[in-house]
Amino acid sequence: MIKSIKGFNDILQVETATSRPSSEWRQLEAMLKQALDQFGYEEIRLPIVEETQLFARAIGDATDIVEKEMFSFTDKSDPPTPITLRPEGTAGAVRAVIEHNLLRGDSPKLWYMGPMFRYEQPQKGRYRQFHQLGVEAFGSEHVDVEAELIAMTYLMWQRLGIDHELSLEINSLGELDERKAYRSALVDFLQTQKEQLDEDSQRRLTTNPLRILDSKDPNTQALLMEAPRLADFLGEDSQAHFEQLKTYLTALGIEYVVNPNLVRGLDYYNKTVFEWVTDKLGSQATVCAGGRYDGLIGQLKSIGKSEDKAKAVKSEPAVGFAMGLERLLLLVQAVNPIQAQPACDVFVVVHPDLYQQGLLYAQSLRQARSDLRVKMASASSLKAQMKKADKSGAQLTVILAQDEVENGTISVKTMHTGEQVSQDKLWLHSAENFRL
Ligand code: ATP
Ligand code: MG
Repeated sequence: MIKSIKGFNDILQVETATSRPSSEWRQLEAMLKQALDQFGYEEIRLPIVEETQLFARAIGDATDIVEKEMFSFTDKSDPPTPITLRPEGTAGAVRAVIEHNLLRGDSPKLWYMGPMFRYEQPQKGRYRQFHQLGVEAFGSEHVDVEAELIAMTYLMWQRLGIDHELSLEINSLGELDERKAYRSALVDFLQTQKEQLDEDSQRRLTTNPLRILDSKDPNTQALLMEAPRLADFLGEDSQAHFEQLKTYLTALGIEYVVNPNLVRGLDYYNKTVFEWVTDKLGSQATVCAGGRYDGLIGQLKSIGKSEDKAKAVKSEPAVGFAMGLERLLLLVQAVNPIQAQPACDVFVVVHPDLYQQGLLYAQSLRQARSDLRVKMASASSLKAQMKKADKSGAQLTVILAQDEVENGTISVKTMHTGEQVSQDKLWLHSAENFRL
């Protein structure tokens, strides 16, 4: 028996061990899209595969994603092109924005939703194919954008009834030169106690020292208590930016915690980073994460350019976040489950000998009433069809047998009362007679 690949899950019409039912996905997506529309963000749809070097250059070589989580292949061209299933969406979005010149005279606010791929150990809330909503706002260096994005996510939590289960952590990473100065101070400090660091952190000391800050190792964390603090290396501009964000959040009534160890796993961030975390999902605590990445556009524009030319390339400011939809659904399920909605409004039951009449009736009803979901069962016995009508959750069942067809009528049964009346054949075709 051929089975799905480990960490790649089916999303079915019913609940499974690894996924919520598709009806919940649709309701969640609809609710998220409504909020995106309200804030004036526009949808883009991007390819699932990109050239490997796009991710290596954008995300950074010394990150978990690029070091060990990418699904990478070569295609059949000569010479073969290294390609990768997208592990996240920002790199592709930035590639598209540059390729299509979307920043010329505009500051697009964009979103996308879809599958991402990472080679990780599958467990609850962590899969090899998972889904993200990604949002990216380009062209503004002002902290208003961070406030807007956080306000949007907060509204989403409120609508889902999970705002009390998520807390907002924020930090500022400063600008590149500020971070560089901090990095060497941190490395100088940690070098002296290298032996006491956990193995990963020892390696990171040379590859990506800032990531040591989010080490889970208690010894390392204890050492870090005495380490220099990034906040002390921020310049005036970075500090003012961060203070303004706090002011906006307070005005919006959004509580936050400053987490000085929040550095995020990707290299492209500067100034603001943030995460929405919950204690309801074990170690898969982060539901949504993002930040500012003012240098990434310039960085990707410089690929293939000489050092001199690369220096002349202008970047463009940008801020974004990504939300893990599986984790969001798990949290919603744990805290405020989405109410199942019946998948049917009207069920048409027809005598097996008169199936064609039923087919035509249901078709004309759907044509007249686009608001109605009209379901039929195959031409089994009336009794078997009535059973299916019961199970369908329909409000009304229309019954067509010999008498009805001869008289041009329908029998309409109201399912929750069991009451059945005879009506004109076109009675349901008018929205006046049956409003949802
Ligand atoms: P984690 O620390 O949990 O590995 P991350 O920092 O790697 O998360 P991001 O790259 O910031 O995650 O992705 C944004 C969001 O996407 C995460 O907060 C999470 O909700 C979701 N996500 C990331 N990786 C996975 C995965 N393998 N399975 C399911 N959801 C994921
Ligand atoms: Mg990860």
